[in-house]
Amino acid sequence: MKLNVPDSILSIKPYEPGKPVDELEREYGISESVKLASNENPCGPSPMAMEAVRANIHGMNRYPDGGAYRLTARLAEKFSVQPENVVVGNGSDDLIALLAHSFLKPGSEALMPFPSFLMYEISVKAAGGVPVKVPLDNVSIDLSALARGITEKTALVFLTNPNNPTGSWFSRNDFQRFMEKVPGDVLVVVDEAYIEFVRKEEVYNSLASPLSDRRVISLRTFSKAYGLAGFRVGYGIMAAEVAAILHRIRQPFNVNALAQAAATAALDDAEHLEKSVAAMQQGVDFLERELAAMGLVTHPTQANFFLVDVDTDAAAVFQKLLTHGVIVRAMGAYGFDTCLRVNAGLEKENRAFIAALKKVLA
Ligand code: PMP
Repeated sequence: MKLNVPDSILSIKPYEPGKPVDELEREYGISESVKLASNENPCGPSPMAMEAVRANIHGMNRYPDGGAYRLTARLAEKFSVQPENVVVGNGSDDLIALLAHSFLKPGSEALMPFPSFLMYEISVKAAGGVPVKVPLDNVSIDLSALARGITEKTALVFLTNPNNPTGSWFSRNDFQRFMEKVPGDVLVVVDEAYIEFVRKEEVYNSLASPLSDRRVISLRTFSKAYGLAGFRVGYGIMAAEVAAILHRIRQPFNVNALAQAAATAALDDAEHLEKSVAAMQQGVDFLERELAAMGLVTHPTQANFFLVDVDTDAAAVFQKLLTHGVIVRAMGAYGFDTCLRVNAGLEKENRAFIAALKKVLA
């Protein structure tokens, strides 16, 4: 059969998710493997979220609330905005796709740092737009180069703070200077998937004063600090006129009923959030110390993960770590051939990774 597929779609390289634990255990006939590859919360979901799921499971014969009324209201309250400023999605992946499909016409350009989160490029191409990848300055997002990259064709700019996969960050001042150079009709998406892990005061936080610049769209997720990756819930805070466009094209039930219940409950579980963030921050500190003691360089991070330079072919190290039951991420696809990306796990998982890496590099 001859398929008639647009070149923009044919040029997409499918996203490669972190290897699932089940798959590794099946392949290698092992158990108790450790996954530090997808920046997930190792502490598990909030007990309050799990309780909300149990309480709502009997209603699964009904469609979800298509307007996600409670979740949207709770998010609006949390960030002192109106419900009209909130759009929830099936993960922030969904919102990235909605933004690309809403604001790009064929030939429109979307600027993005590279390497950064790979779904920007995929979504832009899927929407028929042109991804313009602006190289990092060493491991940090180069806001000056991004500003210089804006043309009359630019409709969207994606920024990631902290950046995935490098863990780097930009400051309030850097962002302010960047926005001064952005034309009035260009929308700037600030993807803050890891913002809850930030420790440095200087780091830009787009929701510290939400909607102060109507060009800015803040994206956040329940997949990381909130520990609900499997439920797929993300959200965006944006000007009401921007949100209204996304609502036109989103699927009517893009966040399922159990996910809505879990996310709404998780917002009330400050204790679980704090505990999770603290555990992952301690995990990052522990791993950085251990890796430094092994003579390895790690890149400074404000996220729950970091890049470590293993000073040899990281893809080979990744494969060998798998045989020890440890899943991390080799960064070749992101242009860092000698780096692994590792997220903080529980203490025993962090220790297992260090022990396995010592064996592999010996
Ligand atoms: N943005 C960034 C920077 C990410 O790293 C991820 C997850 N890897 C996402 C967005 C998507 O998260 P989700 O769809 O699970 O909300």
